[in-house]
Amino acid sequence: MMIQNPITWPNGARCACCITFDMDADSLIHVEHPRDGHRRVSAISMLRYGPTVAVPRIVETYKRLQLRQTFFVPAWCIETYPAAVEAILESGSELAHHSWIHENPIEQTAEEEAHWLDRGIAVIERVSGRKPRGWRAPLYNFSDRSLDFLIARGFTYDASLMGDDIPYLIESRATGKRLVEIPSHWGLDDWPQYVHAIDLDYVMPVRAPSQGFAVYVQEFESAYRHGGLWVPVVHPFASGRLSRWDVFAQFLEKVLARGDVWFAPMEEIAAHVTALTNSGAYSPHIELIPQYDRPVGRVFGGG
Ligand SMILES: [Zn+2]
Repeated sequence: MMIQNPITWPNGARCACCITFDMDADSLIHVEHPRDGHRRVSAISMLRYGPTVAVPRIVETYKRLQLRQTFFVPAWCIETYPAAVEAILESGSELAHHSWIHENPIEQTAEEEAHWLDRGIAVIERVSGRKPRGWRAPLYNFSDRSLDFLIARGFTYDASLMGDDIPYLIESRATGKRLVEIPSHWGLDDWPQYVHAIDLDYVMPVRAPSQGFAVYVQEFESAYRHGGLWVPVVHPFASGRLSRWDVFAQFLEKVLARGDVWFAPMEEIAAHVTALTNSGAYSPHIELIPQYDRPVGRVFGGG
C-alpha cells in the first residue's frame, strides 16, 4: 500500500480533486516593488490577464463541465476586480482567503497578521455573504501563529502545507485545537512550469503547454491509482492562458468521463474529512504546529 493511512472518498470515488486557482492578479508586483510597482505597465498587463481574461474563461469551462472548485483571492484583488469575483461566486465555486495583498505573514508582527487576516475576512463576508472557510498563505508563507489565528476565527481548513498525500489534521502547540489541512506541493504549482517574469525575479524556461501539463497528468494518475488527492495550485495569469487552459480543459473532460473521480470545492473535502473523523470511521495523521518551539540550527548560524 503506497498510502499508509488511506481514506475513503464519497460514493466510492478513486480519488479527490480540487483545482485551486490563486487569483493573485497584480498584487504581486505591488508587494514586490512597493515604490514603483504601479509604473510597471507590462508586468501589470501580464498579471491582470488573470482576472480579466482567464477567470471568465475558466468559469465558463467549469459551468460546461458542471464543476464547482475553489478560488483563493487576496482581498485587495476582490475589491479591485469585482467582476471576476462575481463570476466565480455566480458559478457556485468557493471564494477562499488568500491574504490582503499577498503580503508575507512570516515577516509580520502578531498584530499585523491578525489585522490583515480580519480585514480579508470582512471583505469576503461582504461580497459573498459568508465568512471564508479556508485559507492559503501567500507563497506558502504560513507563520508559526497562523494556525491559532485561523482556529480562533472559525476557519474549517488550511491549504498551505505539504506534509502528506491526503488530508490530515494540524494541531496547535499552544491550544491543542485542530484544523483540517488539505495539502499540495510545489510539483502541482504552475510557477515552475510556466512563469517567466523578470519583474518578479522569477525566471523559468517556459515549457510547452502539454509538456508543462504533463506533471499534472502524472500526479493525477498516481492519486487515482492509490486513493490520493489531486490539488493543483494554479494561477489564472499562468494556467489560464489560451493554450494552457485548452490543454487543461481537454484533460478535465477525459477525467470526468471516467465517472469515479470526486471533484469538489475544498470546503466540501474538509467537511468530508471532519465527518469521517468525528464519526470515528477514520483517524487522520496529526501534526503538531509549529513543528519546533525554538531555533534548531543556532549552533551553526552563530545567531
Ligand atoms: Zn498567491
